[in-house]
Amino acid sequence: TYVVTDNCIKCKYMDCVEVCPVDCFYEGENMLVIHPDECIDCGVCEPECPAEAIKPDAEPGLEQWLKINADMAKSWPNI
Ligand code: SF4
Repeated sequence: TYVVTDNCIKCKYMDCVEVCPVDCFYEGENMLVIHPDECIDCGVCEPECPAEAIKPDAEPGLEQWLKINADMAKSWPNI
């Protein structure tokens, strides 16, 4: 799965949402997250993010953000 990280906080771009083929972005007050069970790992969103906030989960040091994406995707609305 891909994961949204801190550079997304207060970001105003929605480029990632527009390109995602499975609509797996969810929106909270300050940032977006990716639902880990819905993401098909296509990677299309990563280069589209102007804030470089989207990373593949294989990247080290993302444990905190993986948990935040998984938890928040269950409570925030799908966009
Ligand atoms: Fe959507 Fe693909 Fe990005 Fe996953 S990697 S969030 S499926 S665009």
